[in-house]
Amino acid sequence: MYTITVTNQNGWKNKGNTSSRSNCKCGSWKNHWEFFSNKNLSLQKCSLLGCSNPAEQAAHVFRSEEGMYEWLVPLCRSCNHPTNEEYFSLKIGAVLVNANKAETCE
Ligand SMILES: [Zn+2]
Ligand SMILES: [Zn+2]
Repeated sequence: MYTITVTNQNGWKNKGNTSSRSNCKCGSWKNHWEFFSNKNLSLQKCSLLGCSNPAEQAAHVFRSEEGMYEWLVPLCRSCNHPTNEEYFSLKIGAVLVNANKAETCE
C-alpha cells in the first residue's frame, strides 16, 4: 500500500530525528511523496489541522495505534518539529505516503 488518506485525525506524532536519515532513491522525501501520491507537494496545503500555510516538506509521522508504521505527510516548515514528542492532529483526507523504502522505491 503506497498511499492512504487520513481517516482518524487524532493521535499523530512526528517520527523525530529523520534529518540524519539518508534519502531514498527518489532523491528526497519530498520527491518520494510526490512520486507515490502523483501530486505536487508545493501545491498542497499543510496537513496539520488548523494550519492553512502551503506545504513545504514531507514529514515522517506515525500513529501509535498502527504499530509505529511510518508515513510521509506534507507539512509547512513551521509545523514540522522532528523533536516534538507531543501528539498533533492531521486534516481528514490528507494524503500519506508509505515511508518504508523496502515497500516502495527500493
Ligand atoms: Zn523513495
Ligand atoms: Zn503548517
